Amino acid sequence: MELKQKLEILADAAKYDASCASSGTDKRTSSDGKGIGSTTGMGICHSYAPDGRCISLLKILLTNFCVYDCVYCVNRVSSNVARARFNVEEVVNLTLSFYRRNYIEGLFLSSGIIRNPDYTMEQVVEVARVLREVHDFRGYIHLKTIPDASPELMARAGLYADRLSINVELPTIASLHTLAPEKDGQAIRRSMGHLRLKIDESKDKTLTGKKPPRFAPGGQSTQMIVGADATDDRAILDTSANLYGAYKLRRVYYSAFSPIPDASKMLPLKSPPLVREHRLYQADWLLRFYGFNTEEIVTGNDGMLDLDVDPKMAWALQHREQFPVDLNSAPKAMLLRVPGLGVTSVARIISARRVRAIRHDDLARLRVSLKKILPFVVLPDYHPGHSLDHHDLKQQMQQVMPPQQFGLFEPV
Ligand code: SF4
Repeated sequence: MELKQKLEILADAAKYDASCASSGTDKRTSSDGKGIGSTTGMGICHSYAPDGRCISLLKILLTNFCVYDCVYCVNRVSSNVARARFNVEEVVNLTLSFYRRNYIEGLFLSSGIIRNPDYTMEQVVEVARVLREVHDFRGYIHLKTIPDASPELMARAGLYADRLSINVELPTIASLHTLAPEKDGQAIRRSMGHLRLKIDESKDKTLTGKKPPRFAPGGQSTQMIVGADATDDRAILDTSANLYGAYKLRRVYYSAFSPIPDASKMLPLKSPPLVREHRLYQADWLLRFYGFNTEEIVTGNDGMLDLDVDPKMAWALQHREQFPVDLNSAPKAMLLRVPGLGVTSVARIISARRVRAIRHDDLARLRVSLKKILPFVVLPDYHPGHSLDHHDLKQQMQQVMPPQQFGLFEPV
């Protein structure tokens, strides 16, 4: 099969994986004339989808042949799709030539499972090794690891990759058992635990002060498919909170289930609304950076996020008694709960109010949506009056920021 034809098949097959943002790695460059590529700097094409996904990586599968039969996956063994397989040299050459043309900033490599997990993982690691050791490639590499592969292979992957990821695939171990019976949810978590230890070790200085070997400086991430099973948003976010806490993941990516050809009857016929995926990302940020817990974020009795307004707004609308918040005296934790105020604007407010009182005019300089925050704050020269009591406040807020979700494969 022609290389171009393989690329068409294996790049298309990789598009279902959303876990490829390139944040958080260490800086390397070849601007001194040594090596090739860099993880930062001029000449690298960064392109992000509106929800933050990096789309400038060469994102391919080594192969879409797979011996497993996960019912939600287009590459499962029983699926009737065109199959292809790259060899190591082909992936290396594609990465280098695309990099030289400035099409990409790095490589995201995943694979179906051929023969067995160790054999597959060896091939994936070999691509990264050849890029690093033979070609001195200094660009970004994200390897999707195979959960059941040996810890030794995982350890080698971490030497070459910037980021490693293992997909938990589904929000609960029970769902995984039903829809991907060959996968072992406990083994996935064990592998994440091993990676966490290796990543932590790589950050420790030994007693001699010697730097430990590099290991996946961009940390580890995972992906969960949303809407392939009946798990509600509360349980999804509980799983995320657990993964962040137990394995120090950099990111949990949420990928709305896309119906696949010849799908099993166990799967829904339709994708969930894409805005659900968007709300989960917003809720995920509240968990990690805004001091919310899952119970607070999920305001619906049905365990689902409100799709009409963002999760912070939904919480504020249900807790109107906690507003208006005085921007000049409220603690940081409360400022972070004001709809429309982000982490950066809260930091600016705290710094500015040390010098003098913040007034209405100052808000414009914070570049925040005034319509969104004004009902919830009080200032020396501004009071929201009875706006918090308006029965149609939610509708007003919906008009300020109507929900908008871009599809993963739509042009941006
Ligand atoms: S192991 Fe991965 S590639 Fe294979 S069927 Fe399952 S999800 Fe698809």
